[in-house]
Amino acid sequence: MSGIVAIVGRPNVGKSTMFNRLIEDRQAIVDDMSGVTRDRNYGTAEWIGREFSVIDTGGYVPESDDVFEKAIREQVHIAIEEADVLIFMVDAQSGLTPLDQAFAEIVRRYPKRVIIAVNKVDSSVHQSLVYEFYELGLEHVFAVSAMNGGGTGELLDLLVELLPDEPVEKYEGIPRFAVVGRPNVGKSSMVNALLGRDVNIVTPIAGTTRDSVDTHFKAFEQDIILVDTAGLRRRAKVKENIEFYSTLRTARAIENCDIALLLIDATQGIESQDLFVFSLVQKNQKGLVILVNKWDAVEKETNTARDFEATIRERIAPFTDVPIVFVSATEKIRLLKGLEAAMEVYRNKEIKISTSELNEVMLAAIERYQPPTHRGKLVRIKYVTQVNASIPTFLFFTNYPDHVKENYKRYLENQLRKHFSLTGVPVNVFFRKK
Ligand code: GDP
Ligand code: GDP
Repeated sequence: MSGIVAIVGRPNVGKSTMFNRLIEDRQAIVDDMSGVTRDRNYGTAEWIGREFSVIDTGGYVPESDDVFEKAIREQVHIAIEEADVLIFMVDAQSGLTPLDQAFAEIVRRYPKRVIIAVNKVDSSVHQSLVYEFYELGLEHVFAVSAMNGGGTGELLDLLVELLPDEPVEKYEGIPRFAVVGRPNVGKSSMVNALLGRDVNIVTPIAGTTRDSVDTHFKAFEQDIILVDTAGLRRRAKVKENIEFYSTLRTARAIENCDIALLLIDATQGIESQDLFVFSLVQKNQKGLVILVNKWDAVEKETNTARDFEATIRERIAPFTDVPIVFVSATEKIRLLKGLEAAMEVYRNKEIKISTSELNEVMLAAIERYQPPTHRGKLVRIKYVTQVNASIPTFLFFTNYPDHVKENYKRYLENQLRKHFSLTGVPVNVFFRKK
C-alpha cells in the first residue's frame, strides 16, 4: 500500500461522509480484524486495485472563533506537507464561502495535488451550482455526492493517478524498521540509542518519502533501515493539531516499514493512544514488536513484568502473538534483545512453508476439529498452500469457500501460529472453491 489522501475543508461540507464512503467496503473487514479501539479518522481505501490511506481532518478543526482561521491554516499546511493528495471539499448547496476561500488560498500553491470535490450535488438539479467553484482557480473540480456516491468514481480515477508511484525497492531485502508510538514514549531517545556508538551508519537515504530521511545502518552485524519518524515534535507547538499531525506522521512511517517497533511508556501503562497506533500497524498489515520503554524508571517487584505483559496482551486481544520486550532507551537496557525480536519478526514475515509440510500439519488439525456444517452440508477443506505475498498468506481449498465461519478461520490461523514461526506478523487466510 502506498499513498496518503487527506480530506480537508471547512466543517459540514461532508468530509466525514466522504471518508466513510471511501473506506466503506473496508470498514467491515477492518473492524472485524482489529478488535481494538475504533478510530474515526483513519482508514484504508482501494480503487481499481490501488490501495491508499485516507485521513479525515474533520475532527481536528476547533470550533472556537479566535483560533479558527489559524487552525485551518495549520490543518491545511500539515495535510499538504504530509499527504500525497488533498481532497478539498466544498458544499454546492451552500455555495462558495469566505472560509472556502481561505482554504483555497493555501492549497492553490500546490495545485497539482489538490482535487476540489464540490459536494452535495445529489442530482442534476444541483449541477449548475458547481460552476462558481471554478473561481477558486484550481484545475481539478469534480461534482460529487458523498451521500449517494454520485461522481465519486471519476474523482477516484484521477486521485489514483495523482498518487505517487509505488516506491522502487532499491534496498530490497534489508529490513525496514520504524520506531513508533505516541508523543513522549521515547522514540527520539530510542532512535538515538540505536544509531549511537554501537552502530555504524552506512548512509542516509534521502527522499524515500517526501521530506523524510531513512537511515541505513548496521547493528550487531545486521543491515537495517530505520524509517524516520523524527520531526514529530517540529509542530507540536500547535496544540490543536498534534493529534492530526502525529497521525499522519505515524501513518507514513508505518506505511513505509516492514516491522513497527511500537513503544509503550512503562511509567504510564498502555493507553488508548497506544492502541490507536497498534491498530494502524494492524490495518497496514505490518510486523510488530512491542517495546515497553522506560523500564528503568519502574519500581519492580517479583511479578511486575509478568503482570505488565499480561495487561498488554489483554488490551491487544485477540492479536496477542506479538513479542514484548522490556527496554530502556536512555539506559540502553535490552536494546539488543528488542532488535533481535524485530529481526525474528522480519524472518517470520518472509517465511516460506513447503506445501507438503503445510498440508501435513494443517490437514491433521482440520481432521481433529472439523469446520461446522453449512445448512446440514459438510464443509470440507482438502488442500492448503501458501501464496506469494508481502505477509504470510494461505489459501485453503474448500467446497464452500463462502461458508467457512469466522471462528473457524481464527482456529486455522491459531493452528498456523502454533505450528509455524509467525510471531509478530499478520497472517492472511483465504478460502477458494475446489
Ligand atoms: P464534515 O463536518 O465536513 O465532516 O461534514 P459531514 O460529513 O458531517 O456532513 C455534514 C452534513 O452534510 C451532514 O448532515 C451530512 O448528512 C450532509 N451531507 C454530506 N454529504 C452530503 C451529500 O452528498 N448530499 C447532501 N444532501 N448532504 C450531505
Ligand atoms: P518521543 O516524543 O517519543 O520522541 O520521546 P523522547 O525520546 O523525546 O522522550 C521523552 C522523555 O522520556 C524524555 O525526557 C526522555 O529523556 C525520557 N525517556 C526516554 N526513554 C527513556 C527511558 O528509557 N527511561 C527513562 N527513565 N526516561 C526515558
